[in-house]
Amino acid sequence: DASAKVIDGKSVAKEIRDEIAAEISRMKDSIGVIPGLAVILVGDRKDSATYVRNKKKSCESVGINSYEVRLPEDSSEQEVLKHISGFNDDPFVHGILVQLPLPRHMNEQNVLNAVCIEKDVDGFHPLNIGRLAMRDREPLFVPCTPKGCIELLHRYGVDIKGKRAVVIGRSNIVGMPAALLLQREDATVSVVHSRTKNPEKITREADIIISAVGQPNMVKGSWIKPGSVVIDVGINPVEDAKSPRGYRLVGDVCYEEASKIASAITPVPGGVGPMTIAMLLSNTLISAKRVNNFM
Ligand code: NDP
Repeated sequence: DASAKVIDGKSVAKEIRDEIAAEISRMKDSIGVIPGLAVILVGDRKDSATYVRNKKKSCESVGINSYEVRLPEDSSEQEVLKHISGFNDDPFVHGILVQLPLPRHMNEQNVLNAVCIEKDVDGFHPLNIGRLAMRDREPLFVPCTPKGCIELLHRYGVDIKGKRAVVIGRSNIVGMPAALLLQREDATVSVVHSRTKNPEKITREADIIISAVGQPNMVKGSWIKPGSVVIDVGINPVEDAKSPRGYRLVGDVCYEEASKIASAITPVPGGVGPMTIAMLLSNTLISAKRVNNFM
């Protein structure tokens, strides 16, 4: 019998969107400013187009203006840089998001570095990551997915200070910044990656596990310490003949097993996923407030 509390990212994300909408109307009423988010999409990857569409829809739902640029797959890097530079100078734009992955002929580093740090709502600029890593420095923006994980822990009253935390995965966009954030919150953090020997020995010591790997059901019940809190970032399609699409989405964590051992766990879908977009909206609002000195 499953006993873990389900960490309901979908409803927390809704709560956060309502808070953001209220702040946006307060700002609009008092100084007449509406936050704006620019999204640049290059090429015609279906998944990227879906993400961009969802981001636009979420912007509308809270009152953020969205500006979209779609460029063909064979555009030049120069073309992308030109649009970024235009948005950097545009006072109606408070956040700039370049949908990844970019076509292979472009240099991702060049493109991401071109986004001015004041509008880097994805938090991927090396200056923002550098500040996140340093004591007594403040990043202007924290990357959305790890920020969403920490926000879930906060809103469910999970103590982080002094706890043992293990992050599985060390990517630039999720694992690494998640580990930095947990450390800023005074957890003692270990990072497990593809070269780690006996990962389950390390994860079993964790009071908090954040998994961002991309391997379905990799984290078994036996990897988890009884009573720990499990945040599953993974989104993995697995074949499912019973689903009309022929597949369904599962996390990195074997939910069946883990929910009998953990004290709280995020489901997939409906856990971290909805939080990521909510944090993007939050970062865009933070940016608009900061540039207008609006408290
Ligand atoms: P990456 O592929 O960039 O990184 C995966 C990380 O997992 C790497 O650090 C890799 O280690 C590590 N890894 C791979 N295999 C193993 C293994 N067998 N044991 C231990 N570690 C392993 O993925 P992302 O960080 O971009 O995404 C991770 C997952 O999160 C994906 O499923 C993705 O779909 C999902 N995701 C969900 C989001 C959301 O909003 N919920 C947002 C972003 C991603 P190494 O560094 O050694 O290669």
